Amino acid sequence: MTQNKDEERKCTHSGTLSDEDAVVRQKMRRTCAGFSRGSNPVNLLDMFPEELEKELERLGEKKFRAKQVFSWLHKGAGIDDMTNIPKALRDKLKSEYAPGGAKIIKRQISQDGTVKYLYELEDGERVEGVRMKYKHGVSLCISTQAGCDMGCAFCASTIGGCSRSLLPGEMLGEVLSAQKDGGERVSNVVLMGSGEPLLNLENVLKFLRLLSHPEGLNISLRSVSVSTCGLPQGIALLADSGLPVTLAISLHAPNDAIRQRIMPIAKRYTMDEVMSAARGYVRTTGRRVIFEYALIGGINDDISHARELAGRLRGLQCHVNLIPLNALPESEFSGSGPEKAAAFLQTLADLHISATQRRSLGADIDGACGQLRAREARVYNGSRV
Ligand code: SAH
Repeated sequence: MTQNKDEERKCTHSGTLSDEDAVVRQKMRRTCAGFSRGSNPVNLLDMFPEELEKELERLGEKKFRAKQVFSWLHKGAGIDDMTNIPKALRDKLKSEYAPGGAKIIKRQISQDGTVKYLYELEDGERVEGVRMKYKHGVSLCISTQAGCDMGCAFCASTIGGCSRSLLPGEMLGEVLSAQKDGGERVSNVVLMGSGEPLLNLENVLKFLRLLSHPEGLNISLRSVSVSTCGLPQGIALLADSGLPVTLAISLHAPNDAIRQRIMPIAKRYTMDEVMSAARGYVRTTGRRVIFEYALIGGINDDISHARELAGRLRGLQCHVNLIPLNALPESEFSGSGPEKAAAFLQTLADLHISATQRRSLGADIDGACGQLRAREARVYNGSRV
């Protein structure tokens, strides 16, 4: 076995993009190397009921307790809250397993009711989530990695790079903590916080299965979106998973030249390759793909760009989400004005491309992903970002 294969084996906290190119694989290894769970390798929130059963049997306990424990955990309960579990077992669970999940350590509340959370994980890593209230319910945006390695020029999440990938129970913990805090059921989940979900695919897939588990939160995967910067093999693996999530691809440009200027991943994968992966996703799943397009003043917001984009998307079962850029203090880019945005949207509509402009929620509370974490890191860790 080669050394590379050995290293891949060790990388148990990331995805299974076995054939992805060397650059991406190298990033995955770096992402994983930063994470050690110390002496307690198992987190209760990472487990399906059948895995919990095995653990309980190992502890000499009855199998039926697994369902009870699973159900409590997925209500956001701590071990001490599990009133129908004997105290001796509760003590055993506490001594054997890490608490896991994600603890809210800070919240910012916007005038429009949007709440931004800063979560702390077991090892002190911090990630962000955003809870938004819509007419159709409560939507939560969660992080899949602590930071991000993708380097998009307009994004705050990537400023300090990626520390590590999140475990399934940590992503679930983001949902459980926000739901408990808001006192209202989370109905939609979007994987659009910090991180590249398709570089943490194995954990993301397990998280999605836990999230939709009938004995847990039972959130319909049709109400879940997974957003990627556009990794073709990851997109194919997500399609093959059979999970009925919506795929969102961050396109942000009508051609390779502009995309390469703002998204380093575009130097690795051409738009043709991304489009072909998107077509494959539609073919395999029968579901339309969402393209995200942040309008950046003077970069990608001209009428000619809208026409070029429409040409690229023609014939593809898709929808374009125009996002107002949340300008970062660190960045040279600014958002497009409302007239430019309206003209861009109208051009797409005239060319029969389904498109909407996303409302900008939480702009007064560091709404864009990574902004709060980056700011906190500046405050608490000095030179970290
Ligand atoms: N890595 C994934 C998911 C995280 S980013 C991806 O690239 O899709 C979620 C979305 O927010 C992406 O479309 C990303 O490009 C966008 N985004 C990041 N920073 C932004 C900003 N400052 N303003 C508007 N959108 C931003």
